[in-house]
Amino acid sequence: MSLREELVQLEQEAKRLEPGSARRAELHAAVEKYAESFLERLPERPAWVPDEEVVQELLETPLEEEPAPIASELQTLKTHVDTHGINPASAGHLGYIPGGGLYAAALGDYLAAVANRYAGVHYASPGAVNIENRLVRWMADLLGYPDTAGGYLASGGSMANLTAVVTAREAAGLKAEQYADAVVYVTEQTHHCVERGLHVAGLTEATLRHIPVGDRFRMRADLLDEQVRLDSQQGLIPWMVVGSAGTTDTGSVDPLSVIADVTERHDLWLHVDAAYGGFFLLTAHGRQQMQGIERSDSAVLNPHKGLFLPYGSGALVVRDVDLLAKAHDYRADYMQDAQSQRTYSPADVSPELSRHFRGLRMWLPLRLHGLRPFRKALKEKLLLARYAWERLGDAGFETGPEPDLSVVLFRYKPDGRDADRFNQNLRELMLQDGRIFLSSTRVNGNYMLRLAILSFRTHLPTIDLAVDLLRENAERLASQPATVLQQEE
Ligand SMILES: *Cc1c(COP(=O)(O)O)cnc(C)c1O
Repeated sequence: MSLREELVQLEQEAKRLEPGSARRAELHAAVEKYAESFLERLPERPAWVPDEEVVQELLETPLEEEPAPIASELQTLKTHVDTHGINPASAGHLGYIPGGGLYAAALGDYLAAVANRYAGVHYASPGAVNIENRLVRWMADLLGYPDTAGGYLASGGSMANLTAVVTAREAAGLKAEQYADAVVYVTEQTHHCVERGLHVAGLTEATLRHIPVGDRFRMRADLLDEQVRLDSQQGLIPWMVVGSAGTTDTGSVDPLSVIADVTERHDLWLHVDAAYGGFFLLTAHGRQQMQGIERSDSAVLNPHKGLFLPYGSGALVVRDVDLLAKAHDYRADYMQDAQSQRTYSPADVSPELSRHFRGLRMWLPLRLHGLRPFRKALKEKLLLARYAWERLGDAGFETGPEPDLSVVLFRYKPDGRDADRFNQNLRELMLQDGRIFLSSTRVNGNYMLRLAILSFRTHLPTIDLAVDLLRENAERLASQPATVLQQEE
C-alpha cells in the first residue's frame, strides 16, 4: 500500500470522530432528554445517597476499541455517577459550602467546548480573552479596586489562593534564604488551602501565626498589630496577612478595615480570601460586612460558590496587575507571536497556558439573567440564614453567633448526655433521611452542626424542612434511652 493509499484509508476511520449533522442531532436529543429528566426529577431526589458497591464497577470498565451507544453511557451516568454521594444540584445541599450549577452556565460550557476558542492568549482569541478580562474588571469594581487591578479566572479557590501567595511572595521580593524568617498571619478559621498554598509555593519554613479570634470567630486585629511589632523586633519578616471574607466553617468576616490599618502601617501584603463570601458584595449587607476589602492587595472569589456556577470557577483579582504579571513572567521562543500584545492575557497572569474558555460559563448567565436576580438570590440566602438561626434557637437548639453571612452553627444540648455523641447521632439520622445534607465541624472543642445556605435552589420551604427535621429527630433521640443511642452508631 502506498503512503497515499494508507492515508485515504486512515481518513475513513479517523473521520468517525466527526459525527454528521443527523448523528449530532441524535446525540444532542439523547443528552438533552437526560438533562431534562435530571432537572425534572430533582425536587424529589435526595441531597445525599450513601456510596454503594455499584460505583466501583466504573473502575473496572474496559475502554474498548469499538463504539458504545449513547444510551448505555447515559445509563452509566445515571446509575453510577448522578445518584450517589452528595447531590450538589439539590436544594437540600446545606453542607460544606454548596456549589451551584446554573443552566445558562452549562450552555456556556457547551458552546465554549464546541468552538474551543483558545482563551490563554489575546492573540489567539481576542474575544475570549476580552470576555474574561471584562469579567475580571467587573469583579475588581465589585471589590472597589482601582484601574490598576487585574486577575484571571482560575479553576477554583485553592488555585486562586495559591497564585495569590506566589504573587505576594514575588511582590515582597522574598528570597529563598529569607523564607524561614517570613511570617504569615492567619486565624484558626483560615481555609486550609492557604497553608497548602504556602507549602506548594516552597514556603513550608515560613512561620504561620494564628491570631486569636473573638467570640464571633473574627480575627482580633488589635492582637495582630501587637504580634507584627513583636515579630519585627525579633528580626523576623512580617510579610502577608490573610483575612477571610466569609470563613468556610462559620461564615464570619474578619474586620477588614482594621486589618488594613495594620497592614498599611507595617507595609504588609493584605490578601482576602473571599472565595465563599465575595459575591455577597452584590448586596448592601455584604458590602457593609466587607468594608475595607477595597484596601486589600489581592482577593479570591469563587463564582462556583456565590455566583452559582458549576464547579471549576474561581477567580483571583490583584490590586496591581503588574505584580501578578511579574510573578508569572515567562519567555519562550515559540510564544514570540503572542507576546507582543499590550493587554494582559490569562497566560501572562496565571500559571496556565492552554485552558478552557472559562469566561463564557460566567458571562452567559450574568448577561442572560441580568444582575438583579443574583443580588436578590444572595440577599435571600442571607435572610434565610438569619431565619434558620432564629428558628433553630426557638426550637431549643444552642446556636452559634448571629451569622455574618449565610452559615449557621448550632447543636442540641441534651440533658445529662454527651452532647458530641448526641449531635453525631442527629446528623446520622438526617443523612439516613437524605432530603437535607448537612456537615459538621468543631468549635472550641465542641462538635457542631452547620447549615451553609448558598445553593440558588434553596428557598424558604427547604429551610423549614431542615429545621422541622432537625427538631423532630432531636426530640426522637432525646426521648430514647442513652443505651439505645449508642447502639445506633
Ligand atoms: C471553598 C473555599 C476555598 C477553596 O476553594 P475551592 O474552589 O474548593 O478550591 C478557599 N477558601 C474559602 C474561604 C472557601 O470557602
